[in-house]
Amino acid sequence: MRVCRTIAEIRNFVRECRAAGQTVGLVPTMGYFHEGHLTLMREAKKSCDAVVVSLYINPLQFGPKEDFAEYPRDFDRDAAMAREVGVDAIFAPPDEEMYPEGFCTYVEVTGITGRLCGLSRPGHFRGVTTVVSKLFNIVRPDRAFFGQKDAQQAMVIQRMVQDLNMDLEVVVLPTVREEDGLAMSSRNVYLSVEQRRNATVLYRSLCAFREAVERGERDAGKLRRLMVEMISSTPGAEVDYVEILSVPFLEPLEKLRGRCIAALAVRFGKTRLIDNTIVEV
Ligand code: AMP
Repeated sequence: MRVCRTIAEIRNFVRECRAAGQTVGLVPTMGYFHEGHLTLMREAKKSCDAVVVSLYINPLQFGPKEDFAEYPRDFDRDAAMAREVGVDAIFAPPDEEMYPEGFCTYVEVTGITGRLCGLSRPGHFRGVTTVVSKLFNIVRPDRAFFGQKDAQQAMVIQRMVQDLNMDLEVVVLPTVREEDGLAMSSRNVYLSVEQRRNATVLYRSLCAFREAVERGERDAGKLRRLMVEMISSTPGAEVDYVEILSVPFLEPLEKLRGRCIAALAVRFGKTRLIDNTIVEV
């Protein structure tokens, strides 16, 4: 497995792959790998000849009061895990390589970024779409792999690729969960034992939502209240948002119709966790 720290190095690697007639898959990550990341890498490996994993904690997508400085980092562990699943190259650039002095160009998706995490984290998606555009330009992958765990991010990237005619396929893969249902996240390590135990309410509230929809409930307000009540009555859980919106335009709904997403962000102390589920009515 090649470890590249500069854009020139990863471009060289990709050039060699292309010269050998290989297709290239890209898995963008911020590192501190768990089974969710590894699943994306394995799937990428199945459908592409060469897999590049980018490992970059993008400062541009963190707000001034967010956890950029504390975000968990362990390059050696990540590199070993990526090698184990057959990743061909890791691109882990320093900040100066991605944002050299004078950098002043941004990519912004409007509309759907004005809801959910876009409201709680102003500027977050502008940071995401800017860095992902840069990664796409640097690696020029045939396919890029993202997780449903970050549903809004996946939708925003799909929108960007479509609107800007980027020549690649975006693949979105299901959320990988712990045995008790908690969505895997690098941020789960921030949770205390008690918070970790209580955090299972997120998945339980999404299951309750799905079950109620299956029983025939279509009233978005009622479904939302059901989830909010479950979460709010859990010790230490502070709701940031619980929303039920249409897919893919993320418009508010009174009655569920077509594809709908129930998405939530909840704080346990300093730790903000997100999760979601999509239903087809
Ligand atoms: P991150 O390193 O958290 O930025 O995540 C990198 C990629 O892995 C993103 O496309 C995420 O959506 C995806 N991902 C993170 N957690 C999970 C999970 N539990 N299941 C599936 N994909 C995930």
